[in-house]
Parts: sequence; structure tokens; C-alpha cells
Amino acid sequence: MDAYAQHVKHPRYGKRPRITGVDPDPDASIVHLHWNTRFLTESRLRLIEQALGWRPALPEDGSRMVRGTAVAADLARQTPATIPVTHYYDIDRICRACGRRFIFFADEQKYWYEELGFPLEADAIRCPPCRQRLRHIASLRERYEQLFHVPARSVAETLEMADCCLTLIEEAIFHFGQLERVRMLLHRIPESGRSDKLYLNLIARLPLVAKLSNHGRVP
Ligand SMILES: [Zn+2]
Repeated sequence: MDAYAQHVKHPRYGKRPRITGVDPDPDASIVHLHWNTRFLTESRLRLIEQALGWRPALPEDGSRMVRGTAVAADLARQTPATIPVTHYYDIDRICRACGRRFIFFADEQKYWYEELGFPLEADAIRCPPCRQRLRHIASLRERYEQLFHVPARSVAETLEMADCCLTLIEEAIFHFGQLERVRMLLHRIPESGRSDKLYLNLIARLPLVAKLSNHGRVP
């Protein structure tokens, strides 16, 4: 059976580990693996403890490195760290948000730590769609804040603000009390704007969300 059939797919790397055939001896003194591989010998733990001043606790969270997937790091490009990482491995793990398994790819790590300048502490604890969803929510909140402070909103801006607000309620970020604001914003839309696609979409969604709020869902 395909052990990765149920894994969440990454838009760029897919869902299965990428076998490179590279598999350095993790115990060799010149090999340093990321702590996310969960491969820590006692000597490695002591080294980390010396550097950090405390011993990191690694909970059993279902993470495991996939042997044979190593990608060599370019230390000249990697974000400087007390203990650099010499090889990245595909890490098979469980998304903290949705509970599905996904791979945090070696190539993705290389991209994070060598192209994007992320520190080695940065770790993917959520699957790609959950990460994307969080980014989307963050951008909605930001946009909502911006629109909130626009003194004389156009019809399009008012609709966009209502959409941001309703979506954030649907995503359980905003409290149901904010439904009043959505209603108020829609109330301000003049007759000429009431055939707008977004207006009609909001009018259709509003009662569904209101129904949820009556069922005592606590966001
Ligand atoms: Zn997820």
C-alpha cells in the first residue's frame, strides 16, 4: 500500500518523499542534522544544551525523518546559527491544525533557510493548505483594519469590508457579535449597489452564519 496516499499534497513538491539517495551517517562529527529530524544522539543533545543553555524537549509528535532524502546544505547561504545544519531531510509529520500527515521537504527547508533567510528555528508545524489559510486570515484581518480607518468608504470598499468581517466570523476569528457590523455595512449600500455580485453573495451567506450563532457555537 502507498504509505503516502493520504498525505497532504504540497503545491510544488507533491506528497511523497523525494529520494535523493543521499544518506550521511548522522553520527559522524561533520554531519549536523536539523533538530526537526528528531535524530539526536546524546552527544548532539549535550552540544545543543551548551549552545542554548537548556536542553530542548522533543515531544513525540509523530515526526520522523525519511532516510535517503538528504539534501546537502550550502553553509555560505544558510542563515548563520550556532549549530549549522549540514543536511536537510524530508520530514514526515502531522499537521498541528488539521491532524493530517504531510512532508516538510528537504528542498523546501533549503529554500527557507538559504533563499528566504529564515532562521533555523523556523519550522513547518502545519501542512501547506493550513499555512495558506492562516496567511489568508492574516491578510483579511489586515485589510479589515485598513478599511476600518477609511473615513468615507466607497460602495466597493464597504462591500469588501463586510466580506472581510463575515469571513472572519465564519473562520471563528471574530465573535458572532460582529454580525451586527456586517448588517450595518450592508444597510449602507445604496439601491444601485444591491445588484453587485458580492452584495448578493453576502446576503446569501449572512443567514447561514446567523443560524450557526443561534446554535451556540462558541468561536
Ligand atoms: Zn493542516
